[in-house]
Amino acid sequence: MAVLLSDFKNLSMMKIAVLSGDGIGPEIVAQAVRVLDALKKDGLAVELEYGLIGGCAVDATGKPYPEATHRLASQADAVLLGAVGGPRYDTLPRHQRPERGLLAIRKELNLFANLRPALLYPELANASSLKYDVVAGLDIMIVRELTGDIYFGEPRGIEVRDGQRVGYNTMIYNESEIRRIAHVAFQAAAKRQGRLCSVDKMNVLECTQLWRDVVIEVAKEYPQVALSHMLVDNAAMQLVRNPKQFDVIVTGNMFGDILSDEASMLTGSIGMLPSASLDENNKGLYEPIHGSAPDIAGKDLANPLATILSAAMMLRYTFNQEEAAQRIESAVKKVLAQGFRTKDIDEPGMKPVGTKAMGDAVLAAM
Ligand code: NAD
Repeated sequence: MAVLLSDFKNLSMMKIAVLSGDGIGPEIVAQAVRVLDALKKDGLAVELEYGLIGGCAVDATGKPYPEATHRLASQADAVLLGAVGGPRYDTLPRHQRPERGLLAIRKELNLFANLRPALLYPELANASSLKYDVVAGLDIMIVRELTGDIYFGEPRGIEVRDGQRVGYNTMIYNESEIRRIAHVAFQAAAKRQGRLCSVDKMNVLECTQLWRDVVIEVAKEYPQVALSHMLVDNAAMQLVRNPKQFDVIVTGNMFGDILSDEASMLTGSIGMLPSASLDENNKGLYEPIHGSAPDIAGKDLANPLATILSAAMMLRYTFNQEEAAQRIESAVKKVLAQGFRTKDIDEPGMKPVGTKAMGDAVLAAM
């Protein structure tokens, strides 16, 4: 198992499945596609094909992850996704909810490793709700296991026992699931500052005692990485007390869900943060960490930078196009330095722009 270090294929034509989804999804994905198209003109061999996921897929087919989308995503080398969901779909039966589409594509493509960088651009340090000194220079990576844990564990359900309703779920990991995510995290740490913090709740939950035991076993293969452990409640506190103590954090699906959202807010805007979800062969699904933001959908207000940066992660992790990835990331840094701001990151004295104008600025900076 060597997701981050394995040899990359030299693909002649890289196939990207584009699933824009709902709400602001189509608006933000359109800007990332413009960036990919610009690189295409400069010789990047990518081919884009479009499909439906989430609420728009339910509208068209009755299913949030239709067969046709599964075929498209399975045949592609990578998937670029916007976001899914919206109030219109909240009353649908559970199996038809847009979020089920997301869980299904992650599971079906075996995307077990979710990488979420939380990087604070110096230009946006004032957007954080934490003091400048606490967050300035923040650069952490959260590696979250994505296909196991209580979100998928069986048995699960709501039923009547002794005359009253009972709800239950199962937190479960087997050792190979823990081992493969631990490898990804150790390799990520080895490429960064060489520090890995594994987060669990081993004082209460047996499942996470096993997590800790297996992570310690895997650590023997990475003597260059300093491993530490933290209980999840303490980790939630340390992330706001002194976030810069962390380099890479590895944790399970549910703890990772919560901690990665917390880490994202340290940086000021969820409109800035990309993510990658990888399988064992570097095939990946790339998406911004935020949702479909129905409150601002269709108003040209959404920040497209997280999606554009997700496209950069795709070029780096799935296609091994480091130069192209850096070209996008440098362009984003440049537009922030030039003062362009969508509403979510705006400050007095800056240049307010909408979704499309932010895309224009990134293209110009490239
Ligand atoms: P959200 O992330 O959509 O929005 C939270 C807040 O952040 C809103 O005020 C929104 O306007 C703002 N925001 C989000 N992205 C932004 C961007 N790019 N630019 C500017 N502002 C942005 O979370 P929510 O409101 O809790 O959920 C809305 C819908 O999205 C729900 O249906 C939820 O289930 C779904 N959702 C989907 C995903 C996903 O597709 N990965 C993730 C989370 C939530």
